[in-house]
Amino acid sequence: MRLRHIPGSEETVAASPYVIGQPQQYQGNFQKLFGNDNPIEIEIGMGKGKFIMELAKNNPQTNYLGIERYPSVLLRAIAKREDLNLSNIYFLCMDARTLTEVFALEEVSRIYLNFSDPWPKDRHAKRRLTSPEFMKVYDQILKRDGVIEFKTDNQKLFAYSLESIPAAGWKISAYTLDLHHSPMAEGNVMTEYETKFSNMGNQICKLIACR
Ligand code: SAM
Repeated sequence: MRLRHIPGSEETVAASPYVIGQPQQYQGNFQKLFGNDNPIEIEIGMGKGKFIMELAKNNPQTNYLGIERYPSVLLRAIAKREDLNLSNIYFLCMDARTLTEVFALEEVSRIYLNFSDPWPKDRHAKRRLTSPEFMKVYDQILKRDGVIEFKTDNQKLFAYSLESIPAAGWKISAYTLDLHHSPMAEGNVMTEYETKFSNMGNQICKLIACR
């Protein structure tokens, strides 16, 4: 995502009631934040947050945490969030590399990775959210029967992920190279990038990974 620093974004994010300032305080105890013990699902790299806010609206019995590392991006999600009357969604402004400091062992039921940055250079492969390094992080925080759902229009990142995920000891339980014309499209919630890229004629790929 092309990024423009927005002056004051850190302060706005820090002051927002929708952003958890010190998420480590809830480690193993997110039911205290939500006031229930419903399952927790997270989107890593949520951008402006359309996808996860729509899921939260549609599924009041599930708790959602949207994770985005840049305050300038999170600002847009906060603005949208202010128009919604929801008690099952919060945002975390953090790098996903440190997720094990925020979530206890197997605390998360589902992880969404949508249109993750492709990091095309080999020397940056570790930064890809489907790299073996990140799969190790997910292995800690995701329930044993939990799943990871990954969507992208980037064919190279998708081909890489079809190899990197099994290489990290996971199974690919389903995948498609053309989500919008496949049975996996049922119930699909579009992300901002998904709308943009499918309007440009790009096919959307999706995979589901489990242990
Ligand atoms: N998921 C949204 C969508 O599909 O419209 C946004 C996709 S955008 C290309 C990727 C987002 O992931 C960016 O906002 C970026 O800042 C965020 N991101 C990338 N790596 C991250 C990381 N390690 N931790 C948290 N956020 C990350």
